[in-house]
Amino acid sequence: MFRVRKIGEAVSPANARAIADIQAIMRAQFPGLPDSDVAKLPKQIADPFTHQFVTEVWAVEGEQGHVRAFAILLVDPQLKFGYLELISAAPGGTGGGLGAVLYEGVREQARAEGLKGLYFECLPDDPAMSPDPKIRAQNARRLKFYERYGARPITGTLYETPVTPGTPDTPYLVFDGLGEHDLPRASVLKDIVRAVLERKYAEHCPPAYVEKVVKSIRDGGFALRAPRHAGKPAEYPAPPAAHATGRIPLVVNDRHDIHHVRERGYVEAPVRVASILAELDKSGLFARLEPKSFSDRHIRAVHDGGLVDYIEKACAEAPEGKSVYPYVFPIRNASRRPKDLSVLAGYWCIDTFTPLNRAAYPAARRAVDCALTAAEQIKDGAPLAYALVRPPGHHAERRAFGGFCYFNNAAIAAHSLTQLGPVAVLDVDYHHGNGTQDIFYERADVLTVSVHGHPSFAYPYFTGFRGETGRGPGAGYNLNIPLPETITPEQHREAVRTGLKRLARHEPAALVVALGLDPAKGDPTGTWSYTASDFRALGRMIGEAGWPTLVVQEGGYRVRTLGVNARNFFVGLADGAADRKPLAAKGRRKTAKPLALSQVEWREAAREGDVAAVRRLVTDTGMFSSTEVAIAAELVEERVAKGRLSGYDFVFADAEGELLGYACYGQVPGSETSFDLYWIAVARARRGLGLGRAILARVEAEVARRGGRALFADTSGSEGYAPTRAYYKKAGFKKVAELADFYRPGDGKVIYRKEIAPS
Ligand SMILES: [Zn+2]
Repeated sequence: MFRVRKIGEAVSPANARAIADIQAIMRAQFPGLPDSDVAKLPKQIADPFTHQFVTEVWAVEGEQGHVRAFAILLVDPQLKFGYLELISAAPGGTGGGLGAVLYEGVREQARAEGLKGLYFECLPDDPAMSPDPKIRAQNARRLKFYERYGARPITGTLYETPVTPGTPDTPYLVFDGLGEHDLPRASVLKDIVRAVLERKYAEHCPPAYVEKVVKSIRDGGFALRAPRHAGKPAEYPAPPAAHATGRIPLVVNDRHDIHHVRERGYVEAPVRVASILAELDKSGLFARLEPKSFSDRHIRAVHDGGLVDYIEKACAEAPEGKSVYPYVFPIRNASRRPKDLSVLAGYWCIDTFTPLNRAAYPAARRAVDCALTAAEQIKDGAPLAYALVRPPGHHAERRAFGGFCYFNNAAIAAHSLTQLGPVAVLDVDYHHGNGTQDIFYERADVLTVSVHGHPSFAYPYFTGFRGETGRGPGAGYNLNIPLPETITPEQHREAVRTGLKRLARHEPAALVVALGLDPAKGDPTGTWSYTASDFRALGRMIGEAGWPTLVVQEGGYRVRTLGVNARNFFVGLADGAADRKPLAAKGRRKTAKPLALSQVEWREAAREGDVAAVRRLVTDTGMFSSTEVAIAAELVEERVAKGRLSGYDFVFADAEGELLGYACYGQVPGSETSFDLYWIAVARARRGLGLGRAILARVEAEVARRGGRALFADTSGSEGYAPTRAYYKKAGFKKVAELADFYRPGDGKVIYRKEIAPS
C-alpha cells in the first residue's frame, strides 16, 4: 500500500522527514547533482519568489511513511505550465508501477490546477545524439513510458543543441498536453522555453545561447514528434475535438458583475463566471446566445409575490454602495410585519450573509432571464443547454431568499419546462437545494432530487434530511440523498446513480441539473474531493440518461479549478448524450397513446410550427447529430419562407395536432426526372405502425405524378449509420455508388437509388 501526497511545506515533523528522505534519494540517484541543489529544497518550497517558480513536491509513501518515489514540479502560475524537474524512485525501488502512480498523480493535479501542459527534459533516443547503445536503450525506455501518456519530444527547435558543441546526450524538451491541450503557439512556447532556460539553467546556458534557442521557435516550424515507441495506447485520449452532438446553447448572465459584494470572505464573486467562461470558450463545445427578457410572471409562478416585490424595492432603496443584511428575524408574527425595509430583510431571508444592494436585484433578475432563455432552447428541441449565471438560485425558497440566492433560477426554468410534460430537477451542488425542494414540495409534476452534504454539518443545516419526501400531491416526489463529510468521488456518483434511477421512473420530458461545482477538491465551502475527471464522469452519467437537459449554474467557489471542472462536466455530458439513451427511450415509448394508421392526417404545406416540431421529432429519433437536426429544421424554415420556390417538398403526418413523421424531398436542380429524398423520419414512439412506408409511398406517388423516374438518397458509410442504410435497403433502394473519404478520411458517402414507375 502506498499513497501519493503533496508536500506543501517543509516545517512539520512529518514533512521534514519526507524531505530528508527525498534528499537522500536525490543524492543516491543523481550523483552529478551539485549538493547545493539538493540542500536548497526546503527553501525552494517555502519561497517561490527567489526561485521564480512555485515548487510542488510530490511523494509516494509506503506503509511506514518512507518516501519510495518523488517528483518535483515547478509551476509558473502566469504562463500556466509545469516543469517537471525531477521524478525518481528510491534506489532499488524502480519498477513496480510507482513511476506510473506518481506521474499520473502529477498529471491529475496539473489538470486540476488548470495547467496547459507539462514540460520536462528527456535524454535522446537518436543514435546521432546518443552514441552509446546502453545509454540510448535506457533513454528509449523513458521516452516510451511517457509516450503512453501522449508526451513526446518537441521537434523543430534548437532546444537539444548542446551548449558546448559535440557534447552527447543533450536532452529533448518533452511536452505532455495532459490529454487536453495542444502545443501552444510560438509566442507562448518562446516564453515557456525562456522561463525554463533562464530560471532553471542560468548557470549552464549563457544569454546568447538562450536567445538562439528561443529565436528558433517559429509558428509552423515546431511540432510534437510522431509516436516512435510501440506500446500501450495512450491511457488518456484527448477529448473529441468536435462533438458529435453539436454545440450546446450557452446563455451567460451579462449583467452578473454589477453584483459584487466586496467583503472579505464573500466567495460568491464575479471572477467565478470569468473563470468558467475562459475554459468553455476554448472547448469549442458551446454556442453563445444572448439572454432574452421574460416577464415577471415566470418568477411569480414559483415565488411569493411579496418576496419578489420586497427584493426589488429593498435593493432599489438600499443606500448607494451599501449592502443591507438581515439582522432581526421577525418571522413569527406574520400579521405585524415591520415597516422598515432593513428590519424586514430578516422576514424574507434565511441567513445573515445574503446582502440586498442596488446591484443585487438587476443581477438576479437577469439570471432568471438567462435560465428561461436556455430553457426555451430545450423546448425548441436542443438536447442540452447551459445557463451560466450568478447569483445562484437553489437556496431561494418560495417565500425566502438566502445562501447567496435571490430568485430560484433552476426552479423558474423547471416550472416553465412543465409545458413539455413532467420535469425533474437533479441538484448536485454540495449544499442541499432547499429552495427547489420547498417550491415543488407539494407538486407531483416536478420531481426534485438532491445529492448533498448532510445538513448535520453542511449549509443550510435545517433541510436536506432523508425524511423530507414531499407533501400532499407531492408526497414521494422529493428525494434527498445526504452524504457524509468525507466520501470518495465514487461514493458520490453511486448516490447520483440512485437519484437517476428515481428520475427514470418519473419519465421526465426534461431534466434541469442544478450544477454546483463545490463538490470539488479544495472548495472553501465543501469537504469533498472531486477532480476534473470526476466531473467528467458525473457529466457522462447524466448525459447517458438521455433526457433533454438544461444545466443551471449554482455554487462552486474554488476559482482556480472552476473552469476546468465545468469544462470536464460538459465534455462528459455531451459525450454521454451522444451515446445511447436507454432511460429516455423507455420513458417516451410508454407515454405515447396508441394510434392506428387510419387516424393519420396528411398534408404537404409546411406551417410555422413545423420548424420546432421537426426539430423535436428528429432529435427524438436519437439517430442524428445536432448539426443534422439543425439542417432538418432549416429546410422546413426555407419552405415556410419561400414556399415551392425553396425546392423542398414535404409530406407531413399528424394525428391530434402531433407531428408523427415527415419526409422532405425535391427535384434535383437541372434534372428532369431525378429527385432527392433529403429526410424521412418517424417519431420514436410511433414506429412499427408502418408510418415510414406510408410516408415514402406518398413521396413516390408525388414524384411519379411530376414525371420523376428515380429517387436518390445518400448517407454515411460509417458504422453509426448502419440503421439508416438498412432502412434504405428495406425500402427498395439499391446502392449505386460509394464515394470514399467523402465526409472525412475513412468515412465515405453511400448513394442509393429507387426506380419510380410512371404513374
Ligand atoms: Zn453550494
